[in-house]
Amino acid sequence: MIGVVLVGATGSIGRSTLDVVRSLGAEARLVGAFSGSNADGLAAITREFGPRYCAAIGLREGSAGQVGGGAGGVLEAAIADPETTVVVSAASGAAGLPASLLAVRHGRRLALANKESMVMAGPLLLREAARTGAAIVPVDSEHSAIFQALRAGRREEVRKVILTASGGPFRTWPAERIAEATPEEALRHPTWSMGRKITIDSATLMNKALELIEAHGLFGLAPGEIEVVVHPQSIVHGMVEFVDGSVVAQMGKPDMRLPIQYALSCPERKGSSFSRFDVRDFASLTFEAPDPLRFPALALGEEAVRIGGTAGAVLNAANEVAVERFLAGEIPFPAIWKTAEAVLRSATFVSDPDLDDIHAADRAAREEARKWPT
Ligand code: MG
Repeated sequence: MIGVVLVGATGSIGRSTLDVVRSLGAEARLVGAFSGSNADGLAAITREFGPRYCAAIGLREGSAGQVGGGAGGVLEAAIADPETTVVVSAASGAAGLPASLLAVRHGRRLALANKESMVMAGPLLLREAARTGAAIVPVDSEHSAIFQALRAGRREEVRKVILTASGGPFRTWPAERIAEATPEEALRHPTWSMGRKITIDSATLMNKALELIEAHGLFGLAPGEIEVVVHPQSIVHGMVEFVDGSVVAQMGKPDMRLPIQYALSCPERKGSSFSRFDVRDFASLTFEAPDPLRFPALALGEEAVRIGGTAGAVLNAANEVAVERFLAGEIPFPAIWKTAEAVLRSATFVSDPDLDDIHAADRAAREEARKWPT
């Protein structure tokens, strides 16, 4: 029996996870459901699934703080419950870190949809997981694809991994038009239906920059072993090239229920009734190199990996603030990556951070990003 604690239950990944739990029937049970502030959404989930633990725990975008007071206790009790086998960490942004950390500290499988956890605190999560024996399994579609493709060979046989990017809504736009992009235009994603923050990140390609840091953490890869290609159809989610030149790719419809179900069931595969990928529907799958001039955010991911330590937390925090400011109409679209770059270039870093160092780096970067341009 798969016992699921779901954090971020009323968001986009949360709803897809509930679909998976429904579809698995008697093979899975929702042990706990936690949301930020959507109490109505949570009440509906409670009526349908009857989880033993449930609370609105004040997860907010733009906060890397600990889960406060009593609600934090309920979350920890749910994760520690013997029936819990997997924690789906699906809050948006830095607010997802506390649940991810609790999951690995209690030795539970961490199904990681909140990439910011790995971006901000990768070394800390990995250290704790090694101590308790917790597995960290990616939910992010590209990383799930690579995780699946990696099963085709041994680690030392891997030459590189390839993350695919849809290219977002501005893939074919000239730089002058991207410079004028409005929030409405940036929120119109061509292939994936997702939350607001990640949709903006897809438009700047900052999402791919964060995913590069995530891949570095999850799979222990150096920056030179991770490549990004733009694939507008979003069917091939990731590829692994082995030393003999063979490339193994994972394909599927852009539907998060697939990687979520695999994160719950792996190494087994379970049947599902979700709509299926038919290769004949996609006669043309295309791949192109990303354009670093129109999408400078991408290079910041590699820069953060090379710096290491708290650089991921700094980049993530600066970007979160810049995205909020763009959505609020305070700054133009290119100011998102300009803010992130300026904050990353002016920060000081801690090389082997603990949680306090990560919170301090996060806070300082947010402060800088709110002031930019100074
Ligand atoms: Mg992704």
